[in-house]
Amino acid sequence: MDSEEAAVLLDELEGVSSELQAVEIQLQELLERQQELIDRKRLLKKKIQRLSEQSEAGTSAGDRDTAETWNNQDFPWSQALRDALRNSFQLENFRSLQLETINATMAGKDVFLIMPTGGGKSLCYQLPAVCSTGFTLVICPLVSLMEDQLMVLERLGVSATSLNASSSKEHVKWVHNEMINKKSQLKLIYVTPEKIAKSKLFMSRLEKAYQAGLLCRIAVDEVHCCSQWGHDFRPDYKALGILKRQFPNAPLIGLTATATSHVLKDAQKILCVQKSLTFTASFNRPNLFYEVRLKPSNSKDFIEDIVQLINSRYKGKSGIIYCFSQKDSEQVTISLQKLGIRAGTYHANMEPRDKTKVHTKWTANQMQIVVATVAFGMGIDKPDVRFVIHHSMSKSMENYYQESGRAGRDDGRADCILYYGFGDIFRISSMVVMENVGQQKLYEMVKYCQDLNKCRRVLIAQHFDEVWDSAKCNKMCDNCSHNKDCEQVDITKYCRDIMKILEQANQMDEKLTPLKLIDSWMGKGASKLRVALVQPPKLPRDEIERVIAHLLLQQVVREDFSFTAYATISYIKKGPKADLLKNEKYTISVHMKSRKSGAAKVKSPELSPNKSMSKISGPFNKKGERKRTNGDKVSVAKKTKISNDDSIVID
Ligand code: ADP
Ligand code: MG
Ligand code: ZN
Repeated sequence: MDSEEAAVLLDELEGVSSELQAVEIQLQELLERQQELIDRKRLLKKKIQRLSEQSEAGTSAGDRDTAETWNNQDFPWSQALRDALRNSFQLENFRSLQLETINATMAGKDVFLIMPTGGGKSLCYQLPAVCSTGFTLVICPLVSLMEDQLMVLERLGVSATSLNASSSKEHVKWVHNEMINKKSQLKLIYVTPEKIAKSKLFMSRLEKAYQAGLLCRIAVDEVHCCSQWGHDFRPDYKALGILKRQFPNAPLIGLTATATSHVLKDAQKILCVQKSLTFTASFNRPNLFYEVRLKPSNSKDFIEDIVQLINSRYKGKSGIIYCFSQKDSEQVTISLQKLGIRAGTYHANMEPRDKTKVHTKWTANQMQIVVATVAFGMGIDKPDVRFVIHHSMSKSMENYYQESGRAGRDDGRADCILYYGFGDIFRISSMVVMENVGQQKLYEMVKYCQDLNKCRRVLIAQHFDEVWDSAKCNKMCDNCSHNKDCEQVDITKYCRDIMKILEQANQMDEKLTPLKLIDSWMGKGASKLRVALVQPPKLPRDEIERVIAHLLLQQVVREDFSFTAYATISYIKKGPKADLLKNEKYTISVHMKSRKSGAAKVKSPELSPNKSMSKISGPFNKKGERKRTNGDKVSVAKKTKISNDDSIVID
């Protein structure tokens, strides 16, 4: 065989093979996209069907299962509800789905209510409790949660109490007596699920009360804790099925902010509820302004930014700053305190007494800001929180929704500002690496942060299987309120350069942290890690990071973890879709802030504008590149610093 001819053929063969491989990957991508679209189609159809069912049911009296049927005020108990709403709870109107839920439970139905945090779920069993004879048993996962509710009820003059491990003998005796006293004023008894699972004495009292017709209703708060599929499974919730078996005629009401239909079905099964109504409130919080800002690279600038905000827009206003770690929260607190701002730390590793102190002071407005980890979660119910700042992104969209949702519970306008830092991606991914779908969830969060174009509400809604119309945002997010000053930029050449760097490192058996990768690309750092043919990109640092984060989301690169005794380190490697770049025709593009218009102008309607804003929301400053001082630390998460407790969120 002619060797020259053979060489030509071999060459072509190689070309064909690699293109074939690229085509296969593209096919795979298309199949994935097809599946996504099929799922979406199914969901949309389901929603449309549900909507049309609801409107039909509005006219047919036969169907009692829809929200509309329960939304009226001519039930025998309606007058009593109105009076108690005003007189006992000092509220004027019902919020969305409260009346429906209350009417259904008053009618003796078993009801499940899914409503976002702060929506007002407690009223849905507290008001019926006040308007019924006998008492309501409330199952609540945490003592601190009960105490918060009891505090509010006491202020309102509603008779309520709790039983828990630290109750005195006398108190237990008194409660047990009240439970079977026909003349008792006691309206609500809060217990932890352990009480039901473990106390035979209490169960026998309940039995007696039920026989006497005094156990009027059972409320199971945070009902998603029943299901192992939920994010906060509590083994003792599994035992709660006994309630419906022993007290079949006491209506049960289950409440939660986070339950997919799968979790809800599971919970209903565990609670032995056969036929029930489910009301689901929208997760949209129209009064919250959502915004993502670029995290300034050095911590001094960053603190200055935050202080600027606190001293202008949020002067004298109550707020929360969520941090990634206990250390971050302590440091930020100290920095703020030094500047005369009344701030306090809250994290899982503090003495319970100190935690309570911070919480109480903040609630009483003696402290302006709590700087906290996710441990500051359950039962945080201050109505007038005007801002929630995320010093680092959350580890998932669910977490972000819950945390930011603590703002504006009084329905007044409030801001949710997230500071997006490239380094945080790797700090968090090292932390969630052992969690089942931890990385997937984190990348969803990163996607939210990277998005310069889509309505934040639409992005959030996707996580709750809801369909929101961006028009309903009313310009209450950064992406809707600024005049779309971003453009699609072709970054294919950059991607090929990055591949060359990764390939060379791989051949040399070198591992690249995100920082080393960027250094090499920019022609800095160790010279052996650089690639001669690769020109440093003419991009500011922020955009360089944006490109790499985009490739991570697109699976062109991936994270690879290495575990040491003290830390988990994230390295960047070629991703499953890297070979797509072998196809000459393949292009990758990403949204970038348009250079013409300069920095992003985020308009924030009702609150006064702030000078520092345009400076920090734009991804690059006028001179071009920004200095970063973050060392290799960006990709290291110290295991010892992250207590498990800090990642528990129930709300
Ligand atoms: P959830 O349990 O859904 O997170 P809560 O029951 O703790 O929410 O209520 C959150 C806040 O909303 C509380 O401060 C409560 O007083 C307030 N709230 C509840 N219902 C109403 C209403 N109808 N009108 C005004 N405020 C309400
Ligand atoms: Mg609640
Ligand atoms: Zn929007």
